[in-house]
Amino acid sequence: MKIFAPKESDSIETRAALDPAAVKKLVGLGAEVSVETGIGGRCDHPDASYQETGATIISDRAAGISGADLVVRVRKPSSEDVALLRSGTIHISFLDPFHESSLISEFASRGISAISLEMIPRSTLAQKMDAISSQANLAGYVAVILAADRMTTIFPMMMTPAGTISPAKVFVLGIGVAGLQAIATAKRLGARVTAFDVRPEALEQAESLGAKALRIDLGETGSTAQGYAKELTPEQIAKQIAAQAKVCAESDLVITTAKVFGRKPPILIKADVVAQMKHGSVIVDLAAETGGNVEGIVPGEEVLTDNGVRLIGLANYEGRVAKHATQVLAANFANMIEHFWDAESKTFALRRDDEILKGCLITHDGEIVHERFKS
Ligand code: NAD
Repeated sequence: MKIFAPKESDSIETRAALDPAAVKKLVGLGAEVSVETGIGGRCDHPDASYQETGATIISDRAAGISGADLVVRVRKPSSEDVALLRSGTIHISFLDPFHESSLISEFASRGISAISLEMIPRSTLAQKMDAISSQANLAGYVAVILAADRMTTIFPMMMTPAGTISPAKVFVLGIGVAGLQAIATAKRLGARVTAFDVRPEALEQAESLGAKALRIDLGETGSTAQGYAKELTPEQIAKQIAAQAKVCAESDLVITTAKVFGRKPPILIKADVVAQMKHGSVIVDLAAETGGNVEGIVPGEEVLTDNGVRLIGLANYEGRVAKHATQVLAANFANMIEHFWDAESKTFALRRDDEILKGCLITHDGEIVHERFKS
């Protein structure tokens, strides 16, 4: 089986789908692996390092895509790239399937078996290929480090002959994978952390990391079978916003990560709450790329409000630690391919009865096969 990883075409993307270690693993399985020249240029993997572990370097991107049986990449492909794929090719990447119905139709009509990394079930068995988690974890770390760089204050308490510096107050909103890592990173730097999530079990996890859990009685909240939070009612959101206002006003840093699977993130910090925050405080919105949790956030930008609050709404936070983000993402790809590898035919076997594949295979054999996207 021929596996090809193109260089990412979106200028914001610094990661690669494969690194030399993943290439080694795939070659060990018996795959023929090729990568586009320059694929690791922004994550510190020169072409020669891919060659050393067994990859062929291809400079003709179109030939690489059209000659492959399996294409792996980080970001969703352009229509031009989809048009290059041969019928029957397997394509694995982030796809943003809830917002990309025309891309899904293109995959189906071209006979591509498209796998969406976002749809990999959050199960114990699938953990080793869970790219959402491997990347969110690093995004949570980056949020804190980035904020530390922008702040004019420090995180730890320091008792010096010149006086005592108080520890930073950090509020983490949304305690999923990214939120937990943000809490852990801020704690390591010596901050006092408060955290809130609608899932009660997440509050306990935050406490086990040494954070103070903010408890707000929102009535029935609930999670889906996959462990995702359910959408709150407008009344619940209003109650949450009001209950968080004081914590926000007292915080030096607020990190928001709240997402509701398949939907636009809820606005949980309104402009009037930002207006009450201290001059010099920072908000990092990890949900910014898909709309954000904070009123006034500008996706892809940093904005300074009139009262001196820095709103950071950048995208691809994990891409700022591109080498490690690529290491774990490439491992997710290699683990997935290994899981479905048929040793005899040396191919990726699309086992349609496999629970993981059922969750993340979107199109196959000319059709949209995933129940959630059929309509
Ligand atoms: P996510 O990115 O979808 O959302 C981030 C967090 O926002 C979640 O914790 C969610 O509860 C929270 N949230 C939603 N609405 C909110 C609101 N109004 N206020 C505050 N917080 C709000 O979540 P994720 O990090 O992808 O994790 C989703 C779930 O999957 C979690 O339960 C996590 O523990 C679970 N998970 C399981 C596995 C596994 O078993 N293999 C792996 C990773 C994650």
